[in-house]
Amino acid sequence: MSPVDLLDLDSSLSEEERQIRAVVRQVVDDRVRPYVAGWYESGQVPARELAREFGKLGLLGMHLTGYGCAGSSAVAYGLACLELEAGDSGVRSLVSVQGSLAMYAVWRYGSEEQKQHWLPAMAAGEAIGCFGLTEPDHGSDPASMATRARRDGDDWVLTGSKMWITNAPIAEVGVVWARTDDGVRGFVVPMDTSGVTAREIGRKMSLRASVTGEIALDDVRLPADALLPGAIGLKAPLSCLTEARHGIVWGALGAARDCLETALAYATTRTQFGRPLAGFQLTQAKLADLAVEWNKGYLLAVQLGRLADAGRLRPAQVSVGKLNNVREALAIARQCRTILGANGVSGDYPVMRHANNLESVLTYEGTSEIHQLVIGQQLTGISAFT
Ligand SMILES: Cc1cc2nc3c(=O)[nH]c(=O)nc-3n(C[C@H](O)[C@H](O)[C@H](O)COP(=O)(O)OP(=O)(O)OC[C@H]3O[C@@H](n4cnc5c(N)ncnc54)[C@H](O)[C@@H]3O)c2cc1C
Repeated sequence: MSPVDLLDLDSSLSEEERQIRAVVRQVVDDRVRPYVAGWYESGQVPARELAREFGKLGLLGMHLTGYGCAGSSAVAYGLACLELEAGDSGVRSLVSVQGSLAMYAVWRYGSEEQKQHWLPAMAAGEAIGCFGLTEPDHGSDPASMATRARRDGDDWVLTGSKMWITNAPIAEVGVVWARTDDGVRGFVVPMDTSGVTAREIGRKMSLRASVTGEIALDDVRLPADALLPGAIGLKAPLSCLTEARHGIVWGALGAARDCLETALAYATTRTQFGRPLAGFQLTQAKLADLAVEWNKGYLLAVQLGRLADAGRLRPAQVSVGKLNNVREALAIARQCRTILGANGVSGDYPVMRHANNLESVLTYEGTSEIHQLVIGQQLTGISAFT
């Protein structure tokens, strides 16, 4: 049990959930922790190797059923996200984008042929997927997207660009959202289709152990069966985001736990003024407040996970979790950084890396402000988005 789990929240987990968590914790200890500082520094991550390894363990699309997916509970999936993000938010992003965005879109809205063709390969980590919604000029407001898909005979022709797309430069397939005469529709786009180019975005100061790219769509001709038949309107991509946000509610707790455990270990061994840092009341006040916030975040995640497993989780509830847990995880990471003093800014410790990563997590899948507006609308019945 982690020393941070003050409330024995682990006891609320089933045996199976604990076992899945232990397996993911082990793979993170073996395959991520020893290397991630180097990946972060170089900006190079062996995403394909990791995807295959995660695929073997059933972590890709693990909460989906059929087509080679594990069919785990939402809580088990959340715990996997937590353990992955205790390693690095970028590594968790690889799994989230694959399973909750790209695979989920095909699983929920795809034709039987699309599912048969893509899902088993994606579950195995043999095909990497990406999810293209954000554009250079349209982020929080995807309804105003400029990417267009027009019919040409039986074919579709896509034109436009997508920005900040996780996995795009290494993906075999993209789920791309575009405006049509009938509103927003989703397309399954093999990334080697003529007219598709994916350029890696450099100079990221955050999520450096994750590949992020820009997709240019230059008169990309697709057959009629590239359309996701069930995805009609913006609510389709938004439903995928709700899936992924649930993983983030848990994942952010992983990054925060790693920071807290690091700060605790550091504070008990580092001595100043003749006593360990942990012996100072001011340090204990910090640690106590941070651990209380972490436990509140865990309670929130368990409640949302149980609602998801009961089929009753609503988007505004996920917004409560995403807003709170990422905001608090970032506050925890920043405060833990102070406990490590100068070592807190060193890549030899994971804390600053987590803090920097959480800046991206705060922004993607809906910024804090957007989740405040979702919750505000739920409370008041008034939309304040525009
Ligand atoms: C590392 C990384 C990976 C990503 N991966 C993906 C991906 O795989 N697929 C994908 O589609 N996207 C991805 N994104 C994009 C991400 O989802 C967007 O960055 C996010 O939605 C915000 O859009 P924006 O950056 O254009 O900011 P903007 O929408 O321009 O917002 C800028 C600021 O204005 C605020 N703001 C905007 N509207 C309002 C309003 N109505 N009221 C109050 N404040 C407002 C925002 O909260 C924010 O603080 C990724 C981003 C990052 C950083």
